[in-house]
Amino acid sequence: QFNFQDKVALVTGGASGIGLATVQAFFKAGAKVAIVDCDLSRAELAARELSSSSDKALAIQCDVAAPEEVERMVSDVIKTFGKIDIAFNNAGVQNQLAETADATVEDFDRVNGVNLRGMWSCMKYELRQMREQGEGVIVNCSSLGGLVGGAERGTYHAAKHGVLGLTKSAALEYADRNIRVNAVCPGLIWTPMAEQMAESGQREALEGMISQIPMKRHGDASEIADVVLWLSSDASSYVTGQSISVDGGLIMR
Ligand code: NAD
Repeated sequence: QFNFQDKVALVTGGASGIGLATVQAFFKAGAKVAIVDCDLSRAELAARELSSSSDKALAIQCDVAAPEEVERMVSDVIKTFGKIDIAFNNAGVQNQLAETADATVEDFDRVNGVNLRGMWSCMKYELRQMREQGEGVIVNCSSLGGLVGGAERGTYHAAKHGVLGLTKSAALEYADRNIRVNAVCPGLIWTPMAEQMAESGQREALEGMISQIPMKRHGDASEIADVVLWLSSDASSYVTGQSISVDGGLIMR
């Protein structure tokens, strides 16, 4: 469908779920991929499954919540591939369910450290490179939770709303410098994260959510990857600062 020959794509949280599906789609479309994850062994496994050559698929360990690790990770990608054409900032964690009055500072800091500050750090160092290159595309992973509220999920929703603020601000800053910045807002996508929620006593809630989805099914990670590739391609060359819901129509409810 898309041709990313000679392009370099960096994907955070690339070892699992939505990130892994996007890594596979970029690679299939001809891109060289940097698979960035805090879980090195899963990132290495993903890289090995794609290619025996680290010149084509590179696994890099990085906790996006640690700005110094992000700076080093971006510089490692540039050392290996010479540039960053596309960055999909996708690494994320769920919050512990708690109503606002009971949520803890530790959980707020953990969730926002990864989902919001981690996103900001990644954008910061990626944009330094893209600014120098004079071109680039960034796609950030927000959520349906970045557009609506969620009971007992305030810390996660706050971070995902914040991602859209970062996206629009950077899109404005770089619109006339050949750098586009957009976001995807997945609905319910069946990944290890969703599996983990189901196993931690939320299976009924997830099934209830599926009955609310106009398409009456959860999404597949590859359906998010398809939209990320479109947003990363010239087919969306006049699109910037947007958040695209990929949720089977759930946002309409
Ligand atoms: P997942 O748990 O399958 O994958 C997340 C990946 O991110 C894992 O490989 C994990 O190791 C990595 N990661 C976690 N913390 C990290 C850190 N600090 N530094 C680097 N890597 C880290 O989850 P997923 O469902 O594929 O989620 C991917 C993104 O999509 C997340 O941002 C999530 O919030 C968002 N999202 C998911 C859904 C869904 O229904 N699955 C819905 C909306 C948004």
